[in-house]
Amino acid sequence: MKARAGAALGALALLGGCVSPPPPRVVEPVVATPQPPMPPPMLASDFEIDGALEQGGWIRGRVPRGAARLAFGEVPVTLTPDGRFFAGIDRDAPARLRLTATSASGQTAVRELAIAPREWRIERVDVALRGSVPSETFMAQRRPELAAIAAARAVRSDSQGWAQRFAWPATGRISGRFGSQRIYRGVPGAYHSGLDIATGGSGAPYVAPADGVVVLAAQGPFSLEGNLIIIDHGMGLNSAFLHSATLAVKQGERVRQGQVIGTIGATGRATGPHLHWSLMWNGARLDPLLFLPLR
Ligand SMILES: [Zn+2]
Repeated sequence: MKARAGAALGALALLGGCVSPPPPRVVEPVVATPQPPMPPPMLASDFEIDGALEQGGWIRGRVPRGAARLAFGEVPVTLTPDGRFFAGIDRDAPARLRLTATSASGQTAVRELAIAPREWRIERVDVALRGSVPSETFMAQRRPELAAIAAARAVRSDSQGWAQRFAWPATGRISGRFGSQRIYRGVPGAYHSGLDIATGGSGAPYVAPADGVVVLAAQGPFSLEGNLIIIDHGMGLNSAFLHSATLAVKQGERVRQGQVIGTIGATGRATGPHLHWSLMWNGARLDPLLFLPLR
């Protein structure tokens, strides 16, 4: 650089131009670049954890300071700006699961969690499992229903319902429990994916158990679910309410905990009027009873 400047000055001199003396060199003050302080190590003991650490349960917590990402097992978990999170524990979760927090620089803190096993209600029946190949007529109706359910469950709203204490959507007899399963001559059927509440008839109103956004309100009854409402509670947690007689909300609507969202019925595949409530988080099926106060 200096050499080139000198050459340029020389060229000007040769051309006979008037060359003023070079300006005095400005000496830049030397400023020491401040080194960022080393971040304190993330400690697994700094995880804050609350919840029901059992199959079908859930975790609410906070990551250690400095964590930029979190995984539960292999599943990435969303963090709020202040480091809080929600994670669901699948009905068939293994006995141990890990929370792994990772900082921006790649440092990790791992918290091992013991997940208590459940004793699911298993009924063995001496009946063959019915043929499971659905007809093309049925599938022609079913495919768009399944697509609508998958699209609704993929919606991620900014609802804060996930952080609330859940409330009972209806009072009534528990007519079916989450996780129960029939085994047909040794062949397991699908387990019951929700909590059934029966009020002894149709027409009783039920309410949102927590704040949320209605991501599906199927008024034309779906073949199995009937009139179906799905509510997103934020952070990947959503509720589905099946078999409604009527719906009181529309897709896209924000609902508050305790707000009437529908009435109990027997639409779709139901043996009698009841509310089937299921909870899912990132594909994991959760037990609604573990979110509710005892009654
Ligand atoms: Zn049910």
